[in-house]
Amino acid sequence: MANRTTTGPGRFDRNERLFGREGQQALRRAHVGIVGVGGLGTHVVQQLSLLGVGALTLVDDEELSGSNRNRYVGAWHNDPVPGSPKVELGERLAGLIDPAIAVIRVKNNLLSNAAFTALRACSHIFGCVDSDGARFVLNEFCLAYEKPLFDLASDAPEPGYYGGRVAVVIGDSGCLHCRGLLDDDDVRRFLSTEEILDNEAAVYGIDRRALGEAGPSVVSVNGVVASLGVTEFMAAATGIRAPQLHLDYRGDRGTVGSRTDDPADDCYYCGIVRGQGDSANIERYFRRAGSGTPLGES
Ligand SMILES: [Zn+2]
Repeated sequence: MANRTTTGPGRFDRNERLFGREGQQALRRAHVGIVGVGGLGTHVVQQLSLLGVGALTLVDDEELSGSNRNRYVGAWHNDPVPGSPKVELGERLAGLIDPAIAVIRVKNNLLSNAAFTALRACSHIFGCVDSDGARFVLNEFCLAYEKPLFDLASDAPEPGYYGGRVAVVIGDSGCLHCRGLLDDDDVRRFLSTEEILDNEAAVYGIDRRALGEAGPSVVSVNGVVASLGVTEFMAAATGIRAPQLHLDYRGDRGTVGSRTDDPADDCYYCGIVRGQGDSANIERYFRRAGSGTPLGES
């Protein structure tokens, strides 16, 4: 962290024409946590590094797979599969752009002491996960420790529909829970034990393998969602304007729209958990759940 100089004069000239030297300095002071360094997170790593963010904490327990190669920014053709942890690819990408960026790698699931400890040190957090269960925990974490959350999701829920969204949880925005942005069944499944899920599968005849089936995922669609999220982060961190709280990208229509969510009143997370810090005891999720469910890839 000692050498925070950047690589050459003029590097941020064009940034500073948008948000000034103070804005650039605010970005340099930012320490951004990125949870999920997959198809969305890898774009975020690249863009935050180019923007001039000073420190990144990367949280992901997975390795690169062969089917990631269609969209993984910073994966080289000769990176071995298996054998290439995503947090190491992210660290390499940031370092190639600016070796002065401090990168902390956490090759763990979000539901771990290592991840929570590292994320507590961050000033801002990006959620780049593909499970509403992980989003639910990250939402509560960010409220408890009052970290602005930039939650990115890519989505292809049915044939012919593809795109994604950015939701920002900051100040009095309401949270992912009270704004109705999480699927209750996904959250419940995420927090359930294997035993409960197996029982349910037996009772309801659900093929659990089908639930985890991966949909389409394309580099340019992920890139749009990541760019929208990084732009809202840039606006918030530099203070040039307030961030949009909800942006929807419909790739199938070629449109981006902003949305207003009406938070439900008396949200437990916004009202009680918010600002509680350690006393919110978010570790209870992994003490009960053991090692947790993989974050998956987006
Ligand atoms: Zn809330």
